[in-house]
Amino acid sequence: MIIGKIVGVKIKLNKWFVFLMLVYAMIDLLPQALIVFGVAFLHEMAHVFVAINEGYHVIEIEVMPFGGVAKIDNMLGCDVHSEFNIAIAGPLNNLALMGVGWLMQYCHVWNPDLTFFFIKVNLFMALFNFIPALPLDGGRIYRSLLARKIGFKKASEKAFGMSRFISVILMIGGSIGFYLGYVNALVIVIAIFLFGASNQEKQMTLYVIMKNYTKKKEDLLKKGIISGEQLVVLETTPVGEVINYALPQKYHTFVIMNHHWEIAGMITESQVVDILMEKGISITMKQILYQNKVKFLD
Ligand SMILES: [Zn+2]
Repeated sequence: MIIGKIVGVKIKLNKWFVFLMLVYAMIDLLPQALIVFGVAFLHEMAHVFVAINEGYHVIEIEVMPFGGVAKIDNMLGCDVHSEFNIAIAGPLNNLALMGVGWLMQYCHVWNPDLTFFFIKVNLFMALFNFIPALPLDGGRIYRSLLARKIGFKKASEKAFGMSRFISVILMIGGSIGFYLGYVNALVIVIAIFLFGASNQEKQMTLYVIMKNYTKKKEDLLKKGIISGEQLVVLETTPVGEVINYALPQKYHTFVIMNHHWEIAGMITESQVVDILMEKGISITMKQILYQNKVKFLD
């Protein structure tokens, strides 16, 4: 159900969200429900504003019972600096709202129980989203910080490992805690959700790498200049290894050496990606060089 548009972004209400609101209204918890969903909506809008500011096109946000999902045209993760800024905006927004809540409590402008509830919801959402597991904001922050040093692919792998580790710990800890009566069954549900969602994100990685290259090409076409990096590669190295070293924010050129320590050739990132898409990641740099020569003669 689409309820409106803010700064060109469609605001959609998930049908379960509408259903849940009706249930809450019936059991007299409507104010609390409105606070939870209002906070989730503002959290999502913080991501949206930063994304727009970073030059991304946001199509819609969908408000769901556990928060929201923003659909962004260009994939997030294309640019590690943007991904970091967009991701951190969500939990920072909750910390700021906590401050607003305290001020409201101090000035007695609202029902004290509801104000306290508002502060608690913001604290929970900030802490939850700082957990370094994908697809949570914390996972994106962690990945974008790592990707600056070790490249997007390796950083993603590390972030996925971390996500699986955290969800398994939450599952075991949550089950024991639930059995002993310390925690809510919601912890187990969240752990299962995290496990499934991080697997889904993993399948997107190669797609993100491709998108990432496309974005660099577009940037180069638009600005005429971007910063680059040169890598020296042995001709027998498979391209799957080579992309592990590629940094998302740099355009790469590759100097290919043979076993006589001579330069066999030099190719650009775009040439590598074109052939990679066709032939897969086990192709060697020598084969890429050869394929490019054939293409050039065509
Ligand atoms: Zn978020």
